[in-house]
Amino acid sequence: MIAFEATRAWAEAQDAADPLRDFRADFHIPQHEGRDTLYFCGNSLGLQPKGVRAAIEAELADWSGLAVEAHFRGRSPWMHYHEYVRDAMADVVGAQPHEVVAMNSLGVNLHLMLVSFYRPTAARPAILMEAGAFPTDRYALESQVRFHGFDPSTDLIELEADGTGGTLSMAAIERAIAEHGHRIALIVLPGVQYRTGQVFDLARIVRLGHARGCVVGFDLAHAVGNLPLALHDSGADFAVWCTYKYLNAGPGAVAGCFVHDRHAHADVPRFAGWWGHDKHTRFKMGPHFVPTPGADGWQISNPPILALAPLRASLDVFRRAGMPRLVEKSRRLTTYLDWLIRSRLDDTLDIVTPNDPAQRGAQLSVRVRAGRDAGRALFEYLEGRGVIGDWREPDVIRLSPTPLYNRYSDCLGAVEVIEAWRSQA
Ligand SMILES: *Cc1c(COP(=O)(O)O)cnc(C)c1O
Repeated sequence: MIAFEATRAWAEAQDAADPLRDFRADFHIPQHEGRDTLYFCGNSLGLQPKGVRAAIEAELADWSGLAVEAHFRGRSPWMHYHEYVRDAMADVVGAQPHEVVAMNSLGVNLHLMLVSFYRPTAARPAILMEAGAFPTDRYALESQVRFHGFDPSTDLIELEADGTGGTLSMAAIERAIAEHGHRIALIVLPGVQYRTGQVFDLARIVRLGHARGCVVGFDLAHAVGNLPLALHDSGADFAVWCTYKYLNAGPGAVAGCFVHDRHAHADVPRFAGWWGHDKHTRFKMGPHFVPTPGADGWQISNPPILALAPLRASLDVFRRAGMPRLVEKSRRLTTYLDWLIRSRLDDTLDIVTPNDPAQRGAQLSVRVRAGRDAGRALFEYLEGRGVIGDWREPDVIRLSPTPLYNRYSDCLGAVEVIEAWRSQA
């Protein structure tokens, strides 16, 4: 048991002793009435790394100065631009470099993966997912079931939450795979559930799914840059994620996609485009598509350089910090916020997110005991005082202290503001 204290002196001493403390200076912190906001929303939109502006300006300069020639003669030749983020991204998700590619957005990548890896048959038509998934995931999966001529009312199997606060137990996932496995073509689950903050055991889900002949893919929107991931070793067939949440690559930034090595040379259906063509013969401009081995073979278009530049700058921060150090700080920081809430606000808030640090990342989802209206009131009170979390219907406030730029004193500050709200509510 770590000895925490709810005093400013203690929190500031922790901040001063934090080996990652200097990374905060790599980010622009939004201001509120002349002071840094207490920003707990890195799960939704990460802060801007200071290196982003120069990274974009370098490409603007090459565009103005070199135009088409910048594809070959730019400081970072555009021809290979998507490759510049590959190694750092592979590190963050625990993959081999050829298993990852930065392209499109999360939802688009999910559809592209479904084109290749959801191959329903009359005997095995179903997709297993969680009830209450992020809407885009459900829309994508349901529309793919229909696209193949199957019926979502029977062939989209949605696992209902069975735990306290809306969490989903591993036992429920096991039971569903045992019961329906023979009919399931594909399992898609998140790495971290966006509303509850619950973490799923990817490797175990893959083992269970594969044992019943199902393909297994993951949406890692809230997991990437947050959890220690070992995607290759998990055995997942594919995964997709966005990069504007914990990865801090900016609004609508270019997303990520993982295709396991075992599919690197797979002859599967795909929606092809010239940038996925074998890069050695791409500019022969032949009529027949030959995919580049690995995840690169799923690219369609040439990469958006101005949108990839921020991802490159933000991954540089991750490379310097390293996921192991980030995860270590993250666990302690979130445990501190959890401890503060339980010891100071127990009569006011319920924590929805699992208490076990192995079953959560940075995010804590809380509900106000007095109900939804009080929850909305608290959320607005926090915003008005420069404490930035986010609201998820029907009644959850998400607070995510992130290890790159949040401090122990931020956690204490947020709890003090909630106490002030309680005493006036
Ligand atoms: C954030 C998020 C998305 C967003 O999808 P975009 O294609 O980037 O708009 C999708 N799914 C989940 C689970 C998310 O958390």
